[in-house]
Amino acid sequence: MTVKRNHVLVVDDEVDACLVMRAALRKAGFEVTVVHDGAAALNEFRVHNYDLVMLDVDMPGMSGYEVCTQLRIDAGPLLPIVMVTGMDDVESVQTAYQHGATDFIAKPINWGLIGHRVLYLLRAYETLVELRAAEARNEAVLGAIPDQLFELDGDARCLNFRAAANDPMANLGTAMVGKSIREFLPMAVARIWDVALHDAAARGFSSGQQYALETAAGTLWFEMSVSHKPGKSADTGSFIILSRNITERKESESRIERLAYFDNLTGLPNRHSFLERVDREVHRARRRKSMLAVLFMDLDGFKNVNDTMGHAAGDQILKRAAQRLHVGLRPSDYLGRPVASSEPLAADSVSNIELARLGGDEFTALVMDMNSAQDALLVAQRIGEIMRRPFEIEGREVVLTASIGVALFPTDGDDAATLLKHADTAMYQAKASGRDNAQIYNATLTTDVLARMELEAGLRAAIAHNEFFLTYQPQIDAASGTMCAVEALIRWQHPQRGLISPMEFIPLAEERGLIDQIGQWALHSACMQAAAWATAGQPLRVAVNLSPLQFRSPDVTSTVLATLAKTGLDPQALELEVTEGALMENSASTRVALQLLRDNGMRIALDDFGTGYSSLAYLTRMPISNIKIDKCFVNGLLGGGENEAIIRAVLAMAHSLGMRVTAEGVENAEQARMLKSLGCDFLQGYYFSRPVAAADIAAFHSRTWQFDDIPSMQDDADRRPALARVR
Ligand code: C2E
Ligand code: CA
Ligand code: CA
Repeated sequence: MTVKRNHVLVVDDEVDACLVMRAALRKAGFEVTVVHDGAAALNEFRVHNYDLVMLDVDMPGMSGYEVCTQLRIDAGPLLPIVMVTGMDDVESVQTAYQHGATDFIAKPINWGLIGHRVLYLLRAYETLVELRAAEARNEAVLGAIPDQLFELDGDARCLNFRAAANDPMANLGTAMVGKSIREFLPMAVARIWDVALHDAAARGFSSGQQYALETAAGTLWFEMSVSHKPGKSADTGSFIILSRNITERKESESRIERLAYFDNLTGLPNRHSFLERVDREVHRARRRKSMLAVLFMDLDGFKNVNDTMGHAAGDQILKRAAQRLHVGLRPSDYLGRPVASSEPLAADSVSNIELARLGGDEFTALVMDMNSAQDALLVAQRIGEIMRRPFEIEGREVVLTASIGVALFPTDGDDAATLLKHADTAMYQAKASGRDNAQIYNATLTTDVLARMELEAGLRAAIAHNEFFLTYQPQIDAASGTMCAVEALIRWQHPQRGLISPMEFIPLAEERGLIDQIGQWALHSACMQAAAWATAGQPLRVAVNLSPLQFRSPDVTSTVLATLAKTGLDPQALELEVTEGALMENSASTRVALQLLRDNGMRIALDDFGTGYSSLAYLTRMPISNIKIDKCFVNGLLGGGENEAIIRAVLAMAHSLGMRVTAEGVENAEQARMLKSLGCDFLQGYYFSRPVAAADIAAFHSRTWQFDDIPSMQDDADRRPALARVR
C-alpha cells in the first residue's frame, strides 16, 4: 500500500524564482509550499511532512548547505533534497553532496522539464522506501527462523553469517566470517560441508547432511540445507546454507533407540544389548589381557510357578528377581558381604557387573575386571544366595533357586556368542548336578576354583582362630660350624586337613589380600620368640620372610619398628628376608623403606637369589646385607659346571659389595663342604636341621659341625680376612 507522495517544500530567498517554481510544479501535479529562508524551512519541516525539498544554495542567513545538513538530521537518510545552485561548477556540486543532498539542479532552470525531474526523484524515493520496508520485513522473517544462515563464496569462504541472538553458536559463526570452512571447522565437519556444497553446486540444492560440534554446552547436532546461487560464467557462484540445531531431536531418537535395548518387564538390558556389550568388553579384555566371565542363570522351578500361579505372578517374580540382582550385585555390596567369613574381600578384587535378561527366566551377568576365575564363582554364589531368599507373591511364599553356568574369557571362548553358548551349556551341567549351584564350562576349573575358595574361607578362619605357628630352621656359620641364626617359617595347622605348607597358602593369601595380617602375625611371633631367647640368655638372630605385597603398604617400616618396640627385641637380632620381586616392584619407595630399616640396625637378606631377575647391577643400589642363594643352585652344585660358576660369581660380586652369602637347601655334607670351600658365609638346609619347634632350637647352641676344608681355592686366603665377621 503506497501513499501518493506529492508535497514539495521550495526554499528560496528570491520571491520571483519561487513563484515560477511553484507554478511549474503545480502544473506537474504537485502540492507546493514556499518559504524564503533556512530557518523558516526548518520550522516548516518540523510541522508538516514533505516528500521532497528544493533548496536554494545561495540565501542570506543560513546557507542552503547548512539547511541541508540540518534537514538530513531531522528527516533521516531517505528524504530527497534537491539543491538549486547558480554555480554549475564541480565544486559546488560536490559541496552539495557532502552536505547530504540527493541531487542538484543548476540555474538557469529549464522550467518545462522541472516537473518531470521532481517526479522522477520522488519515484526513486518511493522505491527506496519500499526497498527499506522489504528489507525490514526480510530481517523480521530471518529473525523468526531458528536456523543459522551462512553465505559462502565459491571457495567455501564465509561471507556472511547470522543466527538468533540466543544461539549458542552465534559467536562462533561470527568469527567464521572471512575464513574458509576448512580453516575453521573441525576436519570431519568440514568434510561433511564439502560434500553438501558439491552436491548443491551440481544440483542447485542439497539437504539432510548432519554434523556434530563439540561446544562448551556439550555436543550439539546440526542438519544443513544448502542452495547454490550460480555466479557469472567465470566464477563459481555462492552458497546459502541454513543449519538447524537438531540436538533435541537426536536425543529423543537415541532415547527411542535405547528402548530397543532394554527389556520391558525388568528394565534390564536385553539379549541384543548384552551381546553387544560382551563383544565390546571382550575386545577390551583382549587388549588389556584381562579376564571376564559370562554367567547364565536360570531360575529352578520358575516354570512350575508360572503354570500354577499364572503369568502375572511369574512376571512379579521376574521383576523382583531383577531388582534383587541389581541391588545385590553392586560391587560395594557383594564385596562387603563375602561369602564364607566376616573379613571383607580384598579391595583389588572389585569387579564390574553388567546384568541382562535374555527372556523367560533366563538372566545373564557379565563380570569384568576379574582377577581370577574365583571372582566369577563368587558372583555366582552371591546370585545363588540372592535367589534362595523366598519371594512373597499373592500372600504366598515362593522359594526358588538358581542354576548358573559360567564361561570365561579367554579360556572358554573369545566372542560374545560363544561365551553365551558355553555359559548356557554350563548352566545345564549345573541343572544336571542337582540345581542350585554354579558350574564353569571347563569342568576341571570348577573343582580347582571351588577348592581355592574353600581354602580361602579356611584361611580367613585360620586368622580368626589363630591356627598358625612358626617353625625355626638353624643357619650355620660356615667358618665355625655353629648355629648363628634361625629362619622363621610359618605353618598352618588346619583343623581337618592337618599341616598345610606355606607354599600352598601364602600365594593365596597374597592374591586375596590376607598376606598383611598373616605377615604381621609371623613378624610379631618371631620377634616375641627371639626376645624370649635373649631374656633366657641365649640370644639368636631370627630371619623373617616379608612378602613383596607387604612393601606395597606405605607403613611397612613403621609396622616393623612398632613390633620391635612392642616385643623389646634388639633390632640387630632381626633379619628381614625379601625377594627380588619386592625390590623391583616399586624400587624407589622400597629402597627408602629398606634403608630406614637398615639404619635402625636390622639386616636385610635377599631371598631366593637366582630365581628371579637376578640383576646384579640392580642389587648394588639396594641396601642389602645378605644374599641367599636359592636351593636349586645348591641342589645342582655337585654336577659341577654352570651352577658352580654361578655361585662363584655371586660370591665374588656379593663380597666385593660387602654383602654376606647364605646357601639354602644344603642337604648333604658334600654340598656343605663344597659351599664352604667356595667361600659361602652361612649354610642352611636339611643336612643341619629341618625347621623345628622353637623349644627344640636350644639344643643347637652347643652343636658344632665339622667341614673338611678343601684348600684348593687360591683366592680364599686373600679374600676372607678382609671381611668383617658379623655375628
Ligand atoms: P623360603 O623363604 O625360601 O624358605 C625356605 C624353604 O625351603 C622352607 O620351606 C624350608 O622348609 C625349605 N628347606 C629348608 N632346607 C631345605 C633343604 O635342605 N631342602 C629342601 N628341599 N627344602 C629346604 P617352607 O617352610 O615350606 O617355606 C616355603 C616358602 O614359604 C618360603 O620359602 C617362603 O617363601 C614362604 N614362607 C614361609 N614362611 C613365611 C612367612 O612367615 N611369611 C612369608 N611371607 N612367607 C613365608
Ligand atoms: Ca626365606
Ligand atoms: Ca629362599
